[in-house]
Amino acid sequence: MSHPSKASPGDDSTKEKGEKLNFIEQEVEKDLKLPKLAGRTLSTRFPPEPNGYLHIGHAKSICLNFGLAKKYGGSCNLRFDDTNPSKEEQEYVDSIQEDVRWLGFEWDELHYASDYFEQLYQWAVQLIKDGRAYVCDLTGEQTREYRGTLTAPGKDSPYRNRSVEENLKLFEQMKAGAFPNGARTLRAKIDMAAPNLNLRDPVMYRVLHADHHRTGDTWCIYPMYDWAHGQSDSLEGITHSICTLEFEDHRPLYNWFCENLGIYHPRQIEFARLNLSYTVMSKRKLLQLVQDGHVSAWDDPRMPTISGLRRRGYTPESIRSFCDRIGVAKFYSTIDVTVLENCVREHLNLVANRVMAVLRPLKVVLTNYPEGQVEMMEAVNNPEDESAGSREVPFTRELFIEQSDFLEDAPRKFFRLKPGGEVRLRYGYIIECEEVVKDPATGEVVEIHCRYDPETRSGSAEGSQRKVKGTIHWVSATEAIDAEVRLYDRLFLSEAPEDVPDGKTFIENMNPNSLEVLAAKVEPSLANAVVGERFQFERNGYFCLDSADSQPNRPVFNRTVPLRDTWAKMQAKGKTN
Ligand code: ATP
Ligand code: MG
Repeated sequence: MSHPSKASPGDDSTKEKGEKLNFIEQEVEKDLKLPKLAGRTLSTRFPPEPNGYLHIGHAKSICLNFGLAKKYGGSCNLRFDDTNPSKEEQEYVDSIQEDVRWLGFEWDELHYASDYFEQLYQWAVQLIKDGRAYVCDLTGEQTREYRGTLTAPGKDSPYRNRSVEENLKLFEQMKAGAFPNGARTLRAKIDMAAPNLNLRDPVMYRVLHADHHRTGDTWCIYPMYDWAHGQSDSLEGITHSICTLEFEDHRPLYNWFCENLGIYHPRQIEFARLNLSYTVMSKRKLLQLVQDGHVSAWDDPRMPTISGLRRRGYTPESIRSFCDRIGVAKFYSTIDVTVLENCVREHLNLVANRVMAVLRPLKVVLTNYPEGQVEMMEAVNNPEDESAGSREVPFTRELFIEQSDFLEDAPRKFFRLKPGGEVRLRYGYIIECEEVVKDPATGEVVEIHCRYDPETRSGSAEGSQRKVKGTIHWVSATEAIDAEVRLYDRLFLSEAPEDVPDGKTFIENMNPNSLEVLAAKVEPSLANAVVGERFQFERNGYFCLDSADSQPNRPVFNRTVPLRDTWAKMQAKGKTN
């Protein structure tokens, strides 16, 4: 698949105001007025194959299908397209249901393509009787050879003109297990010269002796996607079968099956699948990352899976708003991953409580602050949400600040701590750096000695009078708790990780530094953090408690997304001196 154009998000920005419909909504609105759909309401489905965990691309399809049903007062089913037993597992079925619900959607009906195996078999028999399907003995390779190419027509299979009786008998034997894997197929008899390769006698059934996660060994013939999908849609009364563009060329076949069976005929509409920069999005490749240990699991917070994003701290709201923002289109494009990051940042800015955490601690001793004294400082939980209230943060003689908030040889515009300089401690006092204590052996700064100005306590009338240019966060060295903090970076260094020259694989585009683990100090209130809660670590970004590895006395926090770093921006623009 190519990535020819960059789509700018917000193409459908007017949609919310009801002024502009996306192309699928336009089609749906037209169709709902047709006599064919009289008495029906819109009915869609989300049809994942349970061969992996859902990813952000699936979220687009989920939001689209469930969103349409909601908008037009219709229904949306969840259907497992479980026609390939060798790759499918119950674990995936369970995770998919969890993820759809977590995204905020509830299906009207839950179905499995495997529930339709008997009906599909009966329909295949019907097509054989109608002279529209035959059993073929060509091997897979021969079948491909006979199919021809886009420029050359195919050749008829030597088995194409078997009698109906022989076909019925052989198909019966296929079902009964008389043949080994791959020995025979059932094929639709359409047209070996059709310009569309999908119509050149496509395979409907293959022999596969495999244990199915639901039907066990009941079946040893399994329907191909094209044979199962449209008929499943039809059985469920789906009005609009929305799928991705790769299936555009399959639509004539979808239609052929419905027409030749004489059954209710849904309409297939295709849209462009989501591609994200710096992201791999095929389940096969994501499975490889898990199986080969490049990530810890399907829900590794660096994975573009729904479960990975959840563990990373993404909210369902932010993912839905992302899907809304990128809209649906008929052409391929790649969305910049920063669009997704901005969506979660915007949502968390509104809902996440602020706390103070020092990721790379540097000790500060306030030489004129009474030993053993603990002052409780009032701190605002969320300036964006008054109802979030406030909390108390302990202030003591020994504190930790970020190593990056102190510079010994600081440029003029560095408004944090520097020798002889002053800075305000957020919710605390103004302090002045008096002395830098270094390890004599290494020359490394180990401790900073400061004086605090007791007249400058935050919140008090007189304390707020004196202003200094910089404010930094801190935690009490004696009251803070230890926490492991995991900083994630992109899993891939390349914008299009799947575009690799021959002989290379996408694995070589992986970022070797996508995870950084820090021993941080966090304010004591975080001892009560629970999974699912999100925080803004002031000046550091948005974080959440890790759902898998956190221990009650050893919390682990995942960084969801950094805040925009204004200092780095200034540095980049050369404005720091
Ligand atoms: P993958 O290639 O990642 O395995 P798939 O298409 O094989 O994806 P399915 O489980 O068959 O995965 O997909 C379920 C539904 O989700 C389908 O309707 C499919 O079109 C849609 N879908 C899958 N990937 C994307 C994507 N990147 N963007 C939008 N929709 C997608
Ligand atoms: Mg698939």
